[in-house]
Amino acid sequence: MPKFFYTLKRGHIGSDVLRLQKFLISQGIHLQFGADGDFGPATHAAVEQFQQREGLLVDGLFGHNSAIAAVAWGYENTSFEEPIPRTSAEIQEALRFPSKPTNLPRPTQQVSDQLFGEFQYEYAPSNGNPQRIRILNNWVADNIGRFQIPQLLGMVDRQSSSPRLMVNGEIRCHRLAAPRILALFSAWETAGLVNRVLYYVGCFNPRLKRGTINPVRANLSNHSWGSAFDINSQENWIGRPDAIIGARGCLRELVRIANEEGFYWGGHFGNKDGMHFEIAEL
Ligand SMILES: [Zn+2]
Repeated sequence: MPKFFYTLKRGHIGSDVLRLQKFLISQGIHLQFGADGDFGPATHAAVEQFQQREGLLVDGLFGHNSAIAAVAWGYENTSFEEPIPRTSAEIQEALRFPSKPTNLPRPTQQVSDQLFGEFQYEYAPSNGNPQRIRILNNWVADNIGRFQIPQLLGMVDRQSSSPRLMVNGEIRCHRLAAPRILALFSAWETAGLVNRVLYYVGCFNPRLKRGTINPVRANLSNHSWGSAFDINSQENWIGRPDAIIGARGCLRELVRIANEEGFYWGGHFGNKDGMHFEIAEL
């Protein structure tokens, strides 16, 4: 399959951007805010400087020619290569969709109550978060903690509108979920697939399912138990088709291992949620 370089430009965010920024800094090019995984005006200016130095067209877009010039300076380009399917066999491969797991129950609120404990809650919508709930008593203090996932070190966390770098790789999740999420990321890493994760979008988040405002138990999102996490949300938005194999942000290749590790993929929900992985059994 022919390889193309994915163009990085202003507005992009994530580990690809971070890798590029680190490279630019290693080249002695000044980056005003350092490497933060966010391709803004400073990174644009730094790319322009690099292009000028290399005698390339100076446009601040880090595309194919810039990447090739950078590779000559030791730049690592692996997650930049976006194969474009051309032949019918390649198109077939790109459209391949993981089959539903046969080894896992479809995760429901009852399953989560059973695995992670039942909590009492009240509906607490806020401006900008009509799905918010508040969990009562000591359930959060007793069950939710911060745990380090080494593969998430240096990733960008996009769960709020201001993205941040995960400098210590910590996520907030259920204490029983932590070892499972850890096992999942290390299985993905062993399979050479962890670079499919471009950025993290959160785990524990007490709320109703997106789009619902009736605070009945059946509408609770499994993020409320800290047993589900989201990644690559832009490319796999809820209710939309998920990214196909070879496309930026595709998560399909991660699904088989996730199922083996006890995680159900949101791409298999009735209302497709391709960014979402959640624990269906412990
Ligand atoms: Zn989710």
